[in-house]
Amino acid sequence: MKLEHLGIAVKSLSDSVPVFEKIFNKKATDIEEVSEQKVRVCKIKLENCDIEILEPTDPESPIAKFIEKRGEGIQHISFEVPDIKQSLNELKEGGVRLINEEPRTGAEGMLIAFLHPKSTAGILMELAQHQK
Ligand code: ZN
Repeated sequence: MKLEHLGIAVKSLSDSVPVFEKIFNKKATDIEEVSEQKVRVCKIKLENCDIEILEPTDPESPIAKFIEKRGEGIQHISFEVPDIKQSLNELKEGGVRLINEEPRTGAEGMLIAFLHPKSTAGILMELAQHQK
């Protein structure tokens, strides 16, 4: 399993993205709206993982709720798996609590699913599978 990306919750992409572009000396990808997650998202692609920058589009978005409770910051850590359904089944059988029992579609058409932070030391972990 390898680190796929860090998900960073921000109030405003237009405020935050230029700062990250400067830090990493790299242009972010075009902004994509992921309606299922109620976010607008872009990525900065680094050598070993991506930085995923997320802005809520709705007060009911998990990103909006995160910012309301904890302020801006790292919201989730995403790990790449070859077969997300298999991983979810194995984790469920192993007693790990899942937020998503079935994969959903995230940015760039990746299949994603979140594990429950109650099972993972308070860290919101995402599994992600690239679709060929
Ligand atoms: Zn993510």
